[in-house]
Amino acid sequence: MRVNLVGSTTEELVALACECGQPAYRGRQLAGWVYGKSARSFDEMTSLPAALRAALAEGTVHPLWNEVRRSASTDGTTKILAEAADGARVECVFLPYSERSSVCVSTQVGCAMDCAFCATAMGGLSRSLCAGEIVDQVLLVRAALGAAVTHVVYMGMGEPLANYAQTVRSIRLLAEEVGISPRRITVSTVGIPDAIRRLAGEGLPVTLAVSLHAPDDALRHELMPVAGAHSLDSLLRACRDWTQTTRRRMTFEYLLLDGINDSADQARELARRIHGCLANVNIIPYNHVEGRGHFHRPRRAAIEAFKRELERAGIAVTERLRRGNPVSAACGQLRNESVEGRKLEDGC
Ligand code: SF4
Repeated sequence: MRVNLVGSTTEELVALACECGQPAYRGRQLAGWVYGKSARSFDEMTSLPAALRAALAEGTVHPLWNEVRRSASTDGTTKILAEAADGARVECVFLPYSERSSVCVSTQVGCAMDCAFCATAMGGLSRSLCAGEIVDQVLLVRAALGAAVTHVVYMGMGEPLANYAQTVRSIRLLAEEVGISPRRITVSTVGIPDAIRRLAGEGLPVTLAVSLHAPDDALRHELMPVAGAHSLDSLLRACRDWTQTTRRRMTFEYLLLDGINDSADQARELARRIHGCLANVNIIPYNHVEGRGHFHRPRRAAIEAFKRELERAGIAVTERLRRGNPVSAACGQLRNESVEGRKLEDGC
C-alpha cells in the first residue's frame, strides 16, 4: 500500500527516506517540503535528489486533496472545493481577520449525526477522513492562497469525536509538524460525553465547542437525534469535567431557530442548566438551508431578547458574525453560506 506523506511524522519520513537508500537528513528535508513549505508536487522539492523524488512519486501518495474550484468573497473569505483520489469531496474555508487567519476543516465526508437543521446531514455519512486528510486541508489552503494560517477550527462536515483517533492524531500533527498550537485549534462537537472526557485526558489544550441548541432533552432530541443517547445532564456533567481537567473555558453553541428554541423562557432555562459551567454561549442565528424549509431565522428583536436573558443570568454571550465565521459557528451552518451571492455545493 502506498504511504501518505501528509499524515506521516518527520520520524516516519526519515524512516521512509532511509528505506529509499537515502541518509536520514533527506527525510527531514522531505518533512520540510511537505509541512513547512506546503509543497504540492515532487517537482517543487528541488533540494531532494531526482532518484528520491522518483521513488516517492512511485511509492507514496501526495497530495491527498486537489483543488477543484474556488470562490472568494470581498471580505477575503475563500472556499476551496477539494477532491481526493477516490472522488470524495470536502470544502475548506479560509477566513482572514486583522490579526489571525483560520481554516475550517472537515473530519468526515458527510455525517451520520442527522441533525434536523443541517445540510450535510441530508446526504448521510460517506466515509471518515484519516488524519493526513484532515491536515492536508490546511496545507492545501495555505499553498493555494499563499496565506499564513494561524488557527484551525474543526467545524466542517462530520462529527470530530465520531472519528476520534484520526481527529486527535491530526491535532498532534498540526501541532508538531505544521506548527499550529492546540491552543489555536477549536473542536466543535454535538456532545458525546465519554469522548469529551477522553479528549480532556489527551493533554491537548484545544478549545471545545459543544452544540446544545436546546435547553431540554425533548427538544434537543428532536433537533439532534444523537441527544437520544445522552441526556443533557450527562453531557453537562462531561463538560464540567472537561473544564475541571483542562482548566480551559469552553463554548456552548446555540443555534437560534424562530419559534422553536428562541423564547425568553427557553433562555432562562438554558441559563439555569449551564449555571456554574466555565463557558460562554455563542448564539448562531439560523441561516437558511435548502431542503430545511421549516426552520427560520428569528427577528433581530428576538435574538437580542434571548441574549439579554442570558446576560441577565450572568452568562457571557457572543453572537456569530454574519460573514460565516466558523470560529463562532456550529457545524452544519456553514455549508450554504453565500460567497459573492453564489451557493456552494459541498463542505462545512
Ligand atoms: S450539524 Fe454537524 S454533527 Fe450535525 S449532522 Fe451536521 S455536520 Fe453532522
